[in-house]
This record gives sequence, structure tokens and C-alpha cells, in this order.
Amino acid sequence: MKIILFLTAVLILMSNAQPSIRYSLSMSKPQTHLFEVEILITGYTPTTVDLHMPAWRTGRYLLLDFSGGVQEFTVTDEHQHPLPFRKTDKDTWRIDKGNAKTVTAHYKVYANEFNMRTRELTGEHAFVDPLSVFMYVDDLKNSPLQLNVHPFGNWNVTTGLDDVEGSPFTYTAPNFEYFGDCPLEIGNQHEIEFFVDGKKHIICIYGDGTWDADLLVHDFTKIVIANKEFWGDLPYKKFVFMIHCQPNAGGGTEHINSTIMGTRPFVFSNPQMYKGFLGLVSHEYFHTWNVKQLRPKAIAPYDFSRENYSEELWISEGTTSYYDDLLLVRAKFNDAKKFIENINQMVNNERLRFGNRVQPLADASFDAWIKYWRGRQNSQNAETDYYSKGSYLSLLLDLEIRHRSTNAHSLDDVMRTMYHRFPLTKGFTNADFQKVCEEFGGGSFKEFFRDYLYSTVPLPWEKTLSYAGLEVVSLDSLPKPGLGISTQDMSDKTKITNVTPGSPAERAGLEINDEIAAVNGFRVRSVELNERIAAMKAGSEVTIHLFRNDKLKQVTLTLENVRTPNFIVRKVPKPTDQQKSIYEQWLGEPW
Ligand SMILES: [Zn+2]
Repeated sequence: MKIILFLTAVLILMSNAQPSIRYSLSMSKPQTHLFEVEILITGYTPTTVDLHMPAWRTGRYLLLDFSGGVQEFTVTDEHQHPLPFRKTDKDTWRIDKGNAKTVTAHYKVYANEFNMRTRELTGEHAFVDPLSVFMYVDDLKNSPLQLNVHPFGNWNVTTGLDDVEGSPFTYTAPNFEYFGDCPLEIGNQHEIEFFVDGKKHIICIYGDGTWDADLLVHDFTKIVIANKEFWGDLPYKKFVFMIHCQPNAGGGTEHINSTIMGTRPFVFSNPQMYKGFLGLVSHEYFHTWNVKQLRPKAIAPYDFSRENYSEELWISEGTTSYYDDLLLVRAKFNDAKKFIENINQMVNNERLRFGNRVQPLADASFDAWIKYWRGRQNSQNAETDYYSKGSYLSLLLDLEIRHRSTNAHSLDDVMRTMYHRFPLTKGFTNADFQKVCEEFGGGSFKEFFRDYLYSTVPLPWEKTLSYAGLEVVSLDSLPKPGLGISTQDMSDKTKITNVTPGSPAERAGLEINDEIAAVNGFRVRSVELNERIAAMKAGSEVTIHLFRNDKLKQVTLTLENVRTPNFIVRKVPKPTDQQKSIYEQWLGEPW
């Protein structure tokens, strides 16, 4: 009886043994750009196991089909006997494991995608966004996991993942999503440490450049503190700022407790370009809260197998774009004058971009997967950019709330409340966001969201900017003749890159990709095309010679006057007390 009881207990213990998953990453021949991956699964009882390669990575809402880079997949049991497997779709390897106690999968991944910030392995370094390299098992997505890295030669590893004490290059993560959000830089990167609130921050730089470590620490610390004051906390144990300092590098991606940013080596010695770089740092770091914690419901949690449609990305990206500039003003990296110059550009861009009248902002967010990230030639004419217009709408919301609440509240309050009310486990919707705006704005925002988020009504710049004592002035004195095209010189060809809908050029049949050879018999370059046309008279005829598919064509059109929006934003001469106080509290500078 005792023996039977004992056996039963052992069997129960065995069947309750938690399945576990362990990853290993090697890079024995970096010159081949091939990572070697091993996945060890133990204690998983079903007779088949599906390994899935993620189809996209966080921050870029586009299917990247990482499985395309996978090769030489093999799988064995605990006796190193091969197990049968087959692919069931582009991202899934189904293994018939039968009663095998362990399953060990091996495969290689071709890693040569530096500018995508996904995976790269060269003789110089390795960069890994885990979603682009490691497969997952649906049933084990929420289980803790371990990663062992075998760096090449004397290379080192920098990552936001937690170290396992006493085991070099061994890391843990509480689940696959967290693991997938912790990129790794592997090589001979520079590491600079600083502390804020007792929390370690690491600036990790791959490459050489004209950076000054003390200045970076000084400026990054200011950005960290400005965000901590804004949000009220630092939601991580440690933070890693990864920088790829390389020719042609640019852009960045936010992660759960790190960010990866690209910049060119000599940017640091040019004050203007360096400020641009700090703008990128400010943007990516603000994401640590806005999208990495305060996240649209549609991407909380992420589903890595397919598109995750969200109408809220305009808040995740646009509101972040608004605050990346604003916090630099409040932290005194830039002044209010510079910020107002940026608003000039916002007004002109919003009014010039034809796509803003075609696609509502919420739709631009939803369709990011098939439009924004695909970048078509007619994007300007057909699509709203949810980064830019999202930032414009955030600015207008901020001033609207300040005005309605007699400067008692702002979008800052909305963002902080959203952050506390909608933790990562919950996610938020546009309706939640509108409700919090109404709480602080004291009244309905129904029309505001209907017109500017769900429809294409032009933004009310004049009215809303006046709340902060700013006026919009049109400099467009005289309409001039124009064709309504944009061109770009490529080698010795002047190519049409955009045709404005309804323009004289569109009516005359000019198309994107046409090569303009001559205007009225004379060759023309992009730089002087508009000037030459503007110097002519409305009503006169113009003959354009162009090549289309290498065939010469002649087009004659009658010139018309076109109006080009050209606005500047400036302070009103005599502000009211409320305009002044909104301006000062908004920008942190005296009027
Ligand atoms: Zn962003």
C-alpha cells in the first residue's frame, strides 16, 4: 500500500512537472551571417509540438516574415534520435515528438538586416531582436525561460534581460513576450553607466564616433529626469540605451527596458545634428511608458503570428512625437522659439499633404500594416501619416484642455491618468482616451474626435493656437503659375515623384516616374523647375518633353495660378492673461 501510494505521488509529481523552454544562441562563423540556434523543450507532454517563428517585431507594424531566413532545421529527442517534423504554414514547424521527454530543435538564421533593427551578424558585431531569431511554443508563451549566449571570440553581451548570477552570458525572462522585447548587442561595444534613482542606465555604443561620454551622461540623465517628473516613476529595474554609431544609421525602436537607436559617427560634433539625435533619444525613451506600458488593447498582449489592428497607434506614435520635442524644450535643450518654428512646419505640412483630406487618422493607424510601412508612391496623396498628424492632434488636444480648464489641466494629466488607469494587462481604446480627455477638459470631446480622428476635417490651427497666444499668418501674397508636381534628380534624369490631384500636370496626363527632358525646348533640373514655371504667366502655353518607358513624348499644357500654403506661427502682440499663462505653463518659459 505504501509503495503504491509512493508511486502514485511520483506519477502526480511527474505529470505536474512544469514544461520548460531553454534557448541557446551561437555565432561560430560571423562572416557567414548565420546565427546557430538551439531550443530545448522539456516536460512538454502532448505528442506534437508546434514551433512558430514570429511574423513581425514590435515597433514596426509590418509583417517581416522572419521565417524566410531560417535554414537547416533539425530536431532530436533526449537520445539524440531525429524526430519527424513538417511545416504546416510559413511560420510553423510541427514536430511529432510522440513520448519523447525532451525535444531539441536546431536551426540557423541568416542575419544581415542592419537597417531593420532586427538581426545582424558580421565580423564586427551581432545585434539580435529576439523576435527575429527565436521560435516560440504557444502553450509555453507565458512560462519563464532561459537564454544562453555563446559570443564569438572575446565579444561581450549587453541587454536589458536579467542575468543569472554565477552563469556568464545566461539570462532569464518571465515569458516570451518580455524576452522578445529585450534586444541584445554582442561584440566589443562601448558601455557607459549612470544611475538615476539608484537604477542603472547603460549607454551601449557599437562603433566609433565623436561622442563625449561625460556629455552623453549629462544629457541622457536630463532626459531620464524630465520623463520621471512627467510620468512619476521609472518602470524598470535597469535601462539600456543601445546606439549603433555607423554610416547610414538612423531611426530607433523602443523596447520594454531598452531602446536601439541608429546615428552617424560625426553627428555628435555638429550641435544642430546632435540636437536631432537627442530628439530621437527623447522619442524612444518616452515610449518606455507610452506603448511599452500604456498600450492599445489591440496589441496588449502582442500576437506575433499576424497583423494586430489598432486605431490607437496615433497616440502611441503621434503623442510620443509631440512630447519628444516638448520635453526637450522643458528640459532646456531647445527654446520656445524653436518649438514654435516647428509648429510652422506642422501647419504647412498638414495643409499641404493631400492624403490628410483622404484618409482619417484612425484609419491610418488601423491600416499601418498595409499602408504606412509599405510606403507607396502615392502615399502623400492618399494617406495620413499617423506619426505626424497624431502629433498635431496631440498638440491641439493639449491646448484645448488647457483652454477649457482655464489652464488647470493639460494633456500631461491625461497621459499620466491613462498610464495609471490602463496598465499593460488591460490595454486602452480611443474611447477610453476620449473619456479621460473629457474628465480634464470638462465637457464633451465628441465632435473633436469625430472631426479630427474619425474624419478628414482640416485641423483648426488658428482657433486652437490662439489659446496659447499664437497666431497663424499666411505669407502667400500672390498666387503663381505652377504645374503641381514634385521632381527629383536621379543621375542625369529629372523624375516626377508626385503629381498633385486636380493639378494642371494631372489634367495634362503627366505621371509619377515620367522623366522630364525639357520645358519649352530647354533642359531643366529639379532645383530650377518651379522657378522657371513661376516666372511665366498664367494662361500661357508650356511644352514639356518627357520620356516614359524610354519613349519620347510631348505634352502641351496651359499654365494656371496655384496657391501654395505658406504659413508662419508667431506670438500675438498683446496676449490676454490666460493666453500668457497657458503659454508659460505649456512651454516652461516666460512669455
Ligand atoms: Zn516611435
